[in-house]
Amino acid sequence: MPEITVHVPDFASMEDDEVRQHPLTRHSDGKWSALSQVLKSDFETERMNINEAWAMTSLAWRCPACGRKKIDIARKTESGVILCQLERHHDHLGDLAARILRETAWLDNTDPLYTQRKRACAAVLPLVERFAETLVCMDCNAADAAMKKDLGGRVHRDFSFSPSEIGAFVDARPNCAHELNFERGLAIWAKADADFQQRLVFVEQIAGRLTLGLHDREQYNDSYNLVGDQDACMFLSLATGQLGARGRLPPLWEALRARSCAGDGHRSALKKSRATRVRTPTLEEFTDFDRGMQKPGPWSRAAADWRCACCSRSRLEIMRISGKGRWTGHIHEICDYREEMNERALAFRSAYRAERPIFGSYVKITICQDCRLVMTDACKLKGDGRGGENCLSPDVVRSQVGEARPNCRHDVSDEQLREAIETSSSWSSAADDFWSHCRHASEASLRLSQYVDGRGLPPTIARQHAITDLTQSGDLPDWNAEEVFDWLLHERERLDGL
Ligand SMILES: [Zn+2]
Ligand SMILES: [Zn+2]
Ligand SMILES: [Zn+2]
Repeated sequence: MPEITVHVPDFASMEDDEVRQHPLTRHSDGKWSALSQVLKSDFETERMNINEAWAMTSLAWRCPACGRKKIDIARKTESGVILCQLERHHDHLGDLAARILRETAWLDNTDPLYTQRKRACAAVLPLVERFAETLVCMDCNAADAAMKKDLGGRVHRDFSFSPSEIGAFVDARPNCAHELNFERGLAIWAKADADFQQRLVFVEQIAGRLTLGLHDREQYNDSYNLVGDQDACMFLSLATGQLGARGRLPPLWEALRARSCAGDGHRSALKKSRATRVRTPTLEEFTDFDRGMQKPGPWSRAAADWRCACCSRSRLEIMRISGKGRWTGHIHEICDYREEMNERALAFRSAYRAERPIFGSYVKITICQDCRLVMTDACKLKGDGRGGENCLSPDVVRSQVGEARPNCRHDVSDEQLREAIETSSSWSSAADDFWSHCRHASEASLRLSQYVDGRGLPPTIARQHAITDLTQSGDLPDWNAEEVFDWLLHERERLDGL
């Protein structure tokens, strides 16, 4: 049996040069890359703003619209930051078609044909869109919006230029934003608009057919279903198995992402737009928005007098207007934890966690998009690759946002965020420990059921086998394995009922 030893890189603490040499970074880019080094010396600054798409594409990437290479796309902003951004550009006609189909052909989600109908509608979208979602450079993505603005009211608000059309009306030069050629843009739009209108007609026609159920299609997913690279999945299971029930593989992808992206100058850009865009929705705008949000989700479940569990703002107060004049407002569900009070449970749990608190259960609370943004910003700043939601406790977010202003983002500086991360650290490790405990309890009950259901053994014998297995793999302590095992089974039942 071949034995493979894997050395897991700790990207966070590696020197740029070590990251560059690492086999896992061969096809990616980031603040550590040779290209970034060149850019920093050419532009004479260390400050970079690199987004995920830039970091996850190779050094040889070229914009399919303007044809520029990364070294020509990067540019220095007025505030002295090197901007390295690629964006996903998609056809908004697809969004419009999805909206039309949802309003006409969709069924109520209690209807037995609901899923079939939804799939049939989704299958139409690639036939409607003029181009598939494409990664383009930031300047090409901006050129699409800028040209539509220049063309004014004659352009349908859901029209998008395709990558090749953008390429045809911009004058691309290295290291600066595109110049637009209005005459060419106008000619290209006129031709594309005829196509756009034709496709809208098609959406209306197909919506009629879909409504009649003419494209419903039976589909079952529970047959032998292989997703992804099976060998990769099997190697992953082998590695996970070695770590025991409470173990967790280090999050490599998240760690590389955090090591590669850079957010310099991002927040100042944010502040500018904040100053100009604070508006309270009128009652009518609120009602319209609320109607649009009546799909299943936390918003539609929230009571009329709902308030964010962190900043206490109401639904009307968490709505914000976007740069494009559209209202956004989202409610997110997150976990808040309760301390374990049971003496016996605490005694068992202390074997794995010396400090307090130790969490025994959780409740779901609902927070607004801006409080959630504070949490994700903190995770990015922490940059340990753990990602996830357990970076800041809801209490700490509450104290950070204080008297939150309505209809705008919370104003929390990086400095404040660092402090908040520090204050939350024992809460955050307790939350991780809670989920390890849940996995531990599941593992115990899974082992038991493998012997009972899988081999048809009587429960008492199955229990003995499971205990022996788990003690051997180090998932139960030798000295009171039976007691801990029975307690874990109880825990599993209790946690399932949460
Ligand atoms: Zn481009
Ligand atoms: Zn776009
Ligand atoms: Zn909030």
